[in-house]
Amino acid sequence: MATPATTAHTISAATRQNLPMYEVIIIGGSYAGLSAALTLGRSLRQVLVIDSGKPCNWQTPHSHNFLTQDGQTPAAIAAQARGQVLAYPTVQWHEGQVTAAIKQPDGFVLQTEAGSSFMAKKLLFATGITDQMPDLKGFSQCWGISVLHCPYCHGYEVRSQPLGILANGDMAFDFCQLIRHWSRELTLFTNGPATLSATQREQLAQRGIAILEKQLQYLEHQQGQLRELVFEDGDKQALSALFARIPFAQHCPLPQQLGCQLTETGLIQVDEFQQTSVTGVYAAGDNAGMLRAVSVATAAGTKAGAFINHHLIREES
Ligand SMILES: Cc1cc2nc3c(=O)[nH]c(=O)nc-3n(C[C@H](O)[C@H](O)[C@H](O)COP(=O)(O)OP(=O)(O)OC[C@H]3O[C@@H](n4cnc5c(N)ncnc54)[C@H](O)[C@@H]3O)c2cc1C
Repeated sequence: MATPATTAHTISAATRQNLPMYEVIIIGGSYAGLSAALTLGRSLRQVLVIDSGKPCNWQTPHSHNFLTQDGQTPAAIAAQARGQVLAYPTVQWHEGQVTAAIKQPDGFVLQTEAGSSFMAKKLLFATGITDQMPDLKGFSQCWGISVLHCPYCHGYEVRSQPLGILANGDMAFDFCQLIRHWSRELTLFTNGPATLSATQREQLAQRGIAILEKQLQYLEHQQGQLRELVFEDGDKQALSALFARIPFAQHCPLPQQLGCQLTETGLIQVDEFQQTSVTGVYAAGDNAGMLRAVSVATAAGTKAGAFINHHLIREES
């Protein structure tokens, strides 16, 4: 059930009248945002996409598992998408970071870091999430290159090679079972005492998965390509890749500031129409979806675009 957003502050009607007005503003112009813009632009809606140019997968050299674009660089996929979407005269692009979103009686006012202001009837947040890197030297440099979060994106490329998993507890146990499908040369690194049950330890041993509880010191790598893990005691272990699931945060705090509810896991709560708990505010992509993939973000963007158009039609009739 959607509820109205709290008005942070009201901007005078005269000021609002002078602002560039759009039917929909999409904050975030990566895969989810561009996909929604395509649907809305083709639905004859006046759309503005505002993007700060920081997609979560920027460091990965090749993106996989997205039909027609398998193995392309993330930047090439985005550039091709932008070219196709911005060919529609109904879609405008603005480079910048949105720093304020203010609910008004007749829509929303957005302000950017550089001081531009815009107004829209509906907002779509396609702002993604940011990964919270652990304080481990070499980890962030290898992220998306040889420290990997998802076997569907990058598992095939490291199949049957010596792999590691950096995790602990139930999550580590489940992740080990999954990754073992791609390689039998698998070691679990818990970076301190393992919090596995006796049964879990036994099952991992039965599957030939070693558990190493030693404290890690750093990751030895060459331009992001992992060579070996180096432990506090000086020991080393060579690996082709390390799988890790790390915490994340919303990339953009504005949905929460507008009053959008989050799920227990920190995603923006949306209904089956991609609508948030705040009337007129929608979310799509990584910021609101559990399965993290370009194809899934693109599909969510299409869905959001279609339902925003439906809701506008309903309001207009
Ligand atoms: C390292 C890594 C590798 C991956 N590899 C693959 C792969 O091989 N295959 C695959 O299918 N998926 C892969 N993924 C997952 C995929 O990248 C994501 O699912 C996808 O990028 C999500 O798209 P999105 O549009 O929701 O968010 P993002 O792509 O993260 O884009 C969010 C956009 O919003 C913008 N933004 C945020 N806040 C603001 C603001 N306040 N104002 C303006 N703009 C803002 C950002 O700058 C960014 O451009 C990978 C992810 C990671 C982290």
